[in-house]
Amino acid sequence: MAAVNNAVRRGGVAPVDAARWAMWTCVIVNVVIVEALFLGAGPGKNGVLTVAKFFGVHAALLMLCQLLLVARLPWLDRRIGMDRLTVWHRWVGFSLVWTVLTHATLVVLGYATLDDASMGKTFLALSGVPASLLGILAAAVILVIAVVSTRSLRRRLRYEVWHGLHLLLYVALGLSFVHQLLETKTFTSSAFATAYWWALWLFAFGALLAGRVAVPLWRNAHHRFRVAAVVPESDHAVSVYVTGRHLGKLPARAGQFCIWRFPGHNHWWTANPFSLSATPDGEGLRLTAKAAGGTSAGLRNVPVGSRVFVEGPYGAFTSLHRTRPGAVLIAGGVGITPVRALLGEQGTGDIVVLYRVRSEADAVLLDEVRELVALRGGRLHLLTGRTGEGGAPPFGPDSLHRLVPDITERDVYVCGPPAMTTAVLSGLRDLKVPARQVHAERFGLA
Ligand SMILES: Cc1cc2nc3c(=O)[nH]c(=O)nc-3n(C[C@H](O)[C@H](O)[C@H](O)COP(=O)(O)OP(=O)(O)OC[C@H]3O[C@@H](n4cnc5c(N)ncnc54)[C@H](O)[C@@H]3O)c2cc1C
Repeated sequence: MAAVNNAVRRGGVAPVDAARWAMWTCVIVNVVIVEALFLGAGPGKNGVLTVAKFFGVHAALLMLCQLLLVARLPWLDRRIGMDRLTVWHRWVGFSLVWTVLTHATLVVLGYATLDDASMGKTFLALSGVPASLLGILAAAVILVIAVVSTRSLRRRLRYEVWHGLHLLLYVALGLSFVHQLLETKTFTSSAFATAYWWALWLFAFGALLAGRVAVPLWRNAHHRFRVAAVVPESDHAVSVYVTGRHLGKLPARAGQFCIWRFPGHNHWWTANPFSLSATPDGEGLRLTAKAAGGTSAGLRNVPVGSRVFVEGPYGAFTSLHRTRPGAVLIAGGVGITPVRALLGEQGTGDIVVLYRVRSEADAVLLDEVRELVALRGGRLHLLTGRTGEGGAPPFGPDSLHRLVPDITERDVYVCGPPAMTTAVLSGLRDLKVPARQVHAERFGLA
């Protein structure tokens, strides 16, 4: 952590700002190029079709943004965080749906006007043209994915079912790419336009394949992760110790999480995110899971010696983002896991830990946390009780200020259930803790 603080003090650009600048520059440059190509390709057969084309071209650009947002590029992920990138992916996704629907409606309207026919007839005629049919199919898949991603439906579906449907997006992307090449002149009007468009798609798909497939496969082949031990922490929580080869080369930081598969125990397609609950030391990794459903409850039965498939490490809940010498680490329940890992880092500075649990018996990893806080000369406040059962809310601005009077001068790391995290973030806003000092991990990706 000390090294990171020095980097910030030397006046370097904050990592998150560097990543945002890089992203915005990339977006703006490509929007400008696409606008120029669009104007250069000339108008459509009538005004409506010109506007339809405009929306179509921008839908294509949004698709490429979607690919890059979920490519899990390590440089971006460590600076922005997968949770925030996933939220952006969600917003870009819904913008994509509206853009595609507008494009499709205007295409039908445009041709209906041109041919003086009804929209229904025009739609049927267009679906008989192969290039248009590809676009219609792509739009239908995108629409289905958007519908299952609305909060009410998403909550009712099992994660794996939802995720499986979501993967159909790649089919939609393939269909729409061919549709674009066949239907619009924007990307075929000149040698430059064609080369640019192919290069952009190859880059986006290349990034996706590298981040989602090549890097995880290579890492697992290289490190050959295995379960070294399974240790129950309480009736509801268990730690899994994972070992492997050359772990010193794995770029893992305290506060990050991995996506874990236990193929001998679960279906190969079942993958769950769990934070590293110990500071990575080059010798082994540890996760600590609270029983929430099938996978987490069953982890205590994973055989020692069995293979583990690990994707990651991911996440920006790390000391890379430290801006101040002092820090407050706030954890709720099993949200203690990344906090415990952060506490194990050298040079943590002046530390205060607020650990919220129903009762002391529920406080997972409490002994380790106590020991590390004592070793760092810090303070630990164990806040027991149920929120809403009398007394001041533990994370209201008054309580936070009473517990940590100089909180505005510190970095604040928060990890816990969504309601608690929201309460803490609101308390910090009321206390005017600068946003760049606040770092949150929500244990939820979408
Ligand atoms: C970044 C991150 C770090 C986490 N770290 C920890 C940790 O250190 N310790 C801990 O106990 N829990 C952690 N969790 C929560 C943990 O991932 C879920 O409790 C676990 O996946 C539940 O799986 P299950 O099969 O036991 O339960 P299920 O009943 O299948 O799922 C329970 C809940 O977990 C969600 N979930 C299931 N699978 C996934 C998935 N692959 N990706 C995202 N959400 C999923 C479901 O949508 C559901 O809301 C973390 C979550 C995230 C996003």
